[in-house]
Amino acid sequence: STTPFQFEMSEPPDEQIELLRDALRYAEHYLGTLDQRNVYPNSEALDALDEFDEPLPIEPSQPSDTLAMLHRVGGPGTVAQVGGRYFGFVNGGALPVGTAARVLADVWDQNTAHFVMSPLAARLEAVCERWMAQLLGFPQETAAGFVTGTTLANVSGLAAGRNEILRRKGWDVSESGLYGAPPIPVIVGQGAHAAVRKSLALLGMGDTHTQVIPVDDQGRMIASKIPKIEEGTLVVAQAGNVNSGAFDPVGEICDRVHANSGWVHVDGAFGLWAAALPSLEEHVKGIDRADSWAVDAHKTLNVPYDCGIVLCRDRAALERAFRASAEYFQWSNEREPMRYTPSMSKRARSIELWAVLKTLGREGVVTLIEQLCSHAQNFASQLHERGFAIHNDIVFNQVLVSCDSDKETQRTLAAIQDMGDCWCGASTWHGRSVIRVSVCSWATTSEDIDRSVQSFCAARKIARTSN
Ligand SMILES: *Cc1c(COP(=O)(O)O)cnc(C)c1O
Repeated sequence: STTPFQFEMSEPPDEQIELLRDALRYAEHYLGTLDQRNVYPNSEALDALDEFDEPLPIEPSQPSDTLAMLHRVGGPGTVAQVGGRYFGFVNGGALPVGTAARVLADVWDQNTAHFVMSPLAARLEAVCERWMAQLLGFPQETAAGFVTGTTLANVSGLAAGRNEILRRKGWDVSESGLYGAPPIPVIVGQGAHAAVRKSLALLGMGDTHTQVIPVDDQGRMIASKIPKIEEGTLVVAQAGNVNSGAFDPVGEICDRVHANSGWVHVDGAFGLWAAALPSLEEHVKGIDRADSWAVDAHKTLNVPYDCGIVLCRDRAALERAFRASAEYFQWSNEREPMRYTPSMSKRARSIELWAVLKTLGREGVVTLIEQLCSHAQNFASQLHERGFAIHNDIVFNQVLVSCDSDKETQRTLAAIQDMGDCWCGASTWHGRSVIRVSVCSWATTSEDIDRSVQSFCAARKIARTSN
């Protein structure tokens, strides 16, 4: 019998290529059948996932068999979010060039901690850092850290802000921690995302010390309700309310906070991209004056998962938050990726991000996002015409929909999810049950919207007859 070690060693390169060919064939099948399958895996496909529940294998097996099982059992068990009719959460599709670049990058398997580990990945981070600032209209010196998603980007930006506020008071968090540190006043909007609360908790600034500012009917922080800002306050604003898509008045907030040397961090997971659109200028006015921002390229920009970015006006503040040293580290004179993230080793997500930005260009980004917004408008107006209630102003890609009663809404959503033509999630908005629609894939077409609207109507009919 062979040991796994011998087994790996006996793998000639052409078998590696054969495996990759298998993967491509399976990918071809997957994409080719996407339109005929339920958006959410049906019960048969979900039951089949039990096949994975086997004891840890003792003996090695053929890599091609492993891949075949993944294709046969795993594929049907996926959520078809790369298709055009997935409107759940704010997940975002994956542009083909991003996926293809990802496949190549996966073969390269680069580690992006130090420049010396992957000059390519480090260089592409530097390019993406510069391009992101230009695209969003932020200061040229803005630093970027490439992380898993906005949760970690929020942690990163808030860590920089927290440490900088304390540094100005003569306190070094990296050295002294938070024990005995001066307290930091924290302000968030009532509509702040769960990820913001989580980030603040991780950073030692829990809920009790956080002041929550009321929001308007669209979920926007009401700037005039922010009390007199104490010196060195940390304020978290939002670009893109996770339900309504609405934008906090970030410019106004910045004016008030900066007058008292505070720090404004913007959670812009999917909405920060609006800063690239001249048509949305009104909504994001002054957003470039914030101190740090968090954004997901895997959402609105349709870069494959996972790809979050923290942006920080003060490069040194971000670097100080993540400083680390060891004898074996190798710093170069180039931009060092791990200076800007909590992680050290990480995959080269700058490669897919670069591929998407390079391919779309500024105009392509604008077109992509405007397309998402116009599909959302179309979705909302068709549903409105058919007697559904729309609960938000469609300023971006989010639509909040309800039927006549909460019960009918919930039953309708259950039927929509059951039928599998499209997939949407649930939320509550001003105390009402709503269906939450997020249009965030390049792959969505007008036909997809029409078919989804039909599904909404058919589902409501089922909900009403089941009364
Ligand atoms: C999605 C989202 C987050 C969390 O981002 P992850 O990439 O899932 O970590 C935070 N804030 C807002 C507004 C979001 O939409």
